[in-house]
Amino acid sequence: MLLVSFLISLAGAAPKPNIVVIVGDDMGYADVGFHGCKDIPTPHLNALAASGTRFSSGYVSGPYCSPTRAGLMTGRYQQRFGHEFNPSGNAGKNGLPLKEKTLPQRLKNADYATGMVGKWHLGNSDAMQPDQRGFGSFFGFLGGAHDYFNPAGILRGNTQAGDRSYLTDAFGREAVKFIDNHKKNPFFLYLAFNAVHTPLQADEKRLQQFSGIANKQRRTYAAMMSAMDDAIGKVLAKLKEEKIDGNTLIFFISDNGGPTMNGVSVNGASNLPLRGSKRTTLEGGVRVPFIVSWPGKIPAGVVDDRPVIQIDILPTALAAAGVGVGEKAHLDGVNLLPYLDGRNKEAPHDALYWRFGKQNAIRQGDWKLVRYDEAAEGGKGVSPARLYNLKNDIGESKDLSQAQPDKVRQLQSAWDRWNAGNVTPLWSAEAKLPKN
Ligand code: CA
Repeated sequence: MLLVSFLISLAGAAPKPNIVVIVGDDMGYADVGFHGCKDIPTPHLNALAASGTRFSSGYVSGPYCSPTRAGLMTGRYQQRFGHEFNPSGNAGKNGLPLKEKTLPQRLKNADYATGMVGKWHLGNSDAMQPDQRGFGSFFGFLGGAHDYFNPAGILRGNTQAGDRSYLTDAFGREAVKFIDNHKKNPFFLYLAFNAVHTPLQADEKRLQQFSGIANKQRRTYAAMMSAMDDAIGKVLAKLKEEKIDGNTLIFFISDNGGPTMNGVSVNGASNLPLRGSKRTTLEGGVRVPFIVSWPGKIPAGVVDDRPVIQIDILPTALAAAGVGVGEKAHLDGVNLLPYLDGRNKEAPHDALYWRFGKQNAIRQGDWKLVRYDEAAEGGKGVSPARLYNLKNDIGESKDLSQAQPDKVRQLQSAWDRWNAGNVTPLWSAEAKLPKN
């Protein structure tokens, strides 16, 4: 009897899905076709969005690169373990604390093949490199930015790859190769592009393609974005070709908003209609393109406005893989699957929270209480607490803090409760706003 039920459960068990997490870097909220962008076609990202659900209030837990990735890899607010700022420089001991368990470590323990392609930015010391944090293979670079043509520093595992391809093309090629190597088994692929982060470098062919864009910065940005979209297209085509697209859960986010400090875009990005820039707690810093696709399991063509955040990716991926986490994990993220498949109509989170030095924010329902760096808009220092209703004012233009003191108090006390669970930053080398 036991054997029979065992065989039945075995026969009925769905195969473990492959999991692919794709991250763009410093993308403008406005600069994808599915958010209405007109001058940069992103057909493959649009197709990915159409194949699943896109969250129009999708967030990241930090306003720049490394902290956001720390949250992504752990499913926890990175302020819980002191990873509040970018680690300084390209060397040194700073990086994702070793006591934190990563998504690839958890999936590797569940017999997933795990691979990373792209930008790491979670520590350069031997103990902090991708191969020590759960990835079975790695092609990419360790720091926060990289030249797109110079192969120095592009690693395969721990050694120089010596690859001279345009970097975004190389990342697409390596991602496809990883899928080819592991298509017979469940795999986890973390594909972290450095596009469209500076330096602004694109290949001649794609620059030609965008010769109609007069502004050279925007033209180069468009060519870089298009290269990333092409690389994502290659990944999607490979999954289809191998007939594993129906069994692959894909996430796409940008790690933070476009850098548009003082109204000048550093890379050509636009965050409209959002206000603010990378490095700020305004919407332009932390609200990003956010897609979840799993054909047959998650409805296609859905736009969901419930606020979600990138720390939800870990619990969602683990739930899809049937991997438990245990209470000691202290995850802050939420498994989004019951929300995505329509079982749960509520909001996944009571509130979302941010802290970045003296900048901070909370979003609860349509309300947002925020202190943001006014230097990014030509001012000085961090603003007093301002209250916005994002439902009517997505551009955070009408401060309602004087008119609604009770709402300010209530949001502040909710933020204070959350903040009580945070620790002092482990390092603060970039606590002051650098230029880029
Ligand atoms: Ca970034």
